[in-house]
Amino acid sequence: MDCRHPLLDIAQSYLREFVAPQAAQIDSDPAALQTALKGLGERSLLALRVPQSGGAAEVSEETFRTFQEIVTRYSGALAFLQTQHQSAGGFLAKSENEALKQEYLPHLATGKRLVGVGFSQLRRQGEPALVAQPVAAGFLLNGYVPWITGFGCFQEFIAGATLPDGGAVFGVVPFVETYQAAGGKIIFSEPMELAAMASTNTVTAQLTQWFLPKERVVFIKPAGWIHENDRKNVLQHSFFALGCARAGLDIVEEVAKTKQLPFINTTFDALDRELLNCRAGILEAYRQPDADRLKLRAWAIELACRCATAAVTVSSGAANYKHHAAQRVYREALVFTVAGQTTAVMEATLSRLIR
Ligand SMILES: Cc1cc2nc3c(=O)[nH]c(=O)nc-3n(C[C@H](O)[C@H](O)[C@H](O)COP(=O)(O)OP(=O)(O)OC[C@H]3O[C@@H](n4cnc5c(N)ncnc54)[C@H](O)[C@@H]3O)c2cc1C
Repeated sequence: MDCRHPLLDIAQSYLREFVAPQAAQIDSDPAALQTALKGLGERSLLALRVPQSGGAAEVSEETFRTFQEIVTRYSGALAFLQTQHQSAGGFLAKSENEALKQEYLPHLATGKRLVGVGFSQLRRQGEPALVAQPVAAGFLLNGYVPWITGFGCFQEFIAGATLPDGGAVFGVVPFVETYQAAGGKIIFSEPMELAAMASTNTVTAQLTQWFLPKERVVFIKPAGWIHENDRKNVLQHSFFALGCARAGLDIVEEVAKTKQLPFINTTFDALDRELLNCRAGILEAYRQPDADRLKLRAWAIELACRCATAAVTVSSGAANYKHHAAQRVYREALVFTVAGQTTAVMEATLSRLIR
């Protein structure tokens, strides 16, 4: 385990002081969410996996995951929005397109350039949702992107499109309705009406004969890359679940001070211990090549749901108020159950429920 990076303390005090008191509003109001994101940018916290971007150094895997966990503890919506941009930064940092890197990397940490991602369609089976046809000087993209978070906040997003050989091209495209002179177009749906994190302005995109010039290509990946990548990174999303579990326990701990019922403390102690064990198991698995990562991810997901239920239970009827924290955390647990889901993760999640 590395020493705690000072950036984590900077993040934690910002989140505690400015984000936690606004969490309900950040969950429902896109402007409040964007203000919270700006605060992370003002502290150069928006490109933690990008070496030397804007003077900010890349941090270790453990520090980055802990950061994700801490943000989630205070606001699921902010965690979800910022992680799309951090993913885009990670993609751009790995690109061999030097001109593109120079254009974006120095401006990602502060949020001067904000970029989303739309590639989860590559996980799906059957007919590809978005296809790329190689043409002179680039690719023609046709089809749709089912999920892109950050409309009205991010200026562009990195789309993943399937190539004729089953590989995928990733390229930067505008995140605003745009028409090309040659007839290509990209249009977006209205923001989805979501039960949780509606403020993230998640939309779908429709691309028609969209010309992606080589200059906007981030990289090309071989067939099966997404599945291999998902297998390798199965634990990454667990940190959102861990942060969400902590958010639930924060509510339980707070309520225990006013409702002096010994079983609330007993429940808190047991779940708190389990959360520490689950977290330690996940961190250990990063060092153990043959650890059962799927089992650990499923444990984190189920624990988040149980901690959220505990928060609802101790809050009694008030948990059903529209802006009650327990209810928000409960809805966030739903998102972190399915975000980045693969068939194997779905199976592991269900197996845990019937074990
Ligand atoms: C609020 C929200 C915002 C999001 N924002 C983004 C974003 O900004 N960028 C982004 O890239 N993604 C985003 N996602 C997508 C995201 O992480 C997906 O939820 C996740 O990848 C699951 O995808 P899906 O819901 O489309 O399900 P699917 O991909 O349809 O299914 C999940 C898994 O089950 C498998 N599966 C489905 N049907 C079958 C079947 N019949 N037989 C066998 N296997 C099957 C699929 O192959 C896949 O592996 C967002 C999701 C949510 C909920």
